[in-house]
Amino acid sequence: MPSTLPPCWIEICAGCGRTRHNGAWRDPEPGECPDSVRTHDICPDCIRTLYPGYVRVAERLRREARSAPSVSNENEQTP
Ligand SMILES: [Zn+2]
Repeated sequence: MPSTLPPCWIEICAGCGRTRHNGAWRDPEPGECPDSVRTHDICPDCIRTLYPGYVRVAERLRREARSAPSVSNENEQTP
């Protein structure tokens, strides 16, 4: 087992203090991973509460990224 990998990452919501596990946010359990590397994030609920304007921007960026045409599809062929 390689020992260079970080033991475990825990994302903590800076707004409500919940932690993220497999994409779901829930209340932290004491001592669940004492060696974890902690990083701060913001859960979707707090984004809506704290940054209502950012939600709209994020949704628009997601929509545009999905509907954007492939950049490599330029018409560079010569007839
Ligand atoms: Zn939160």
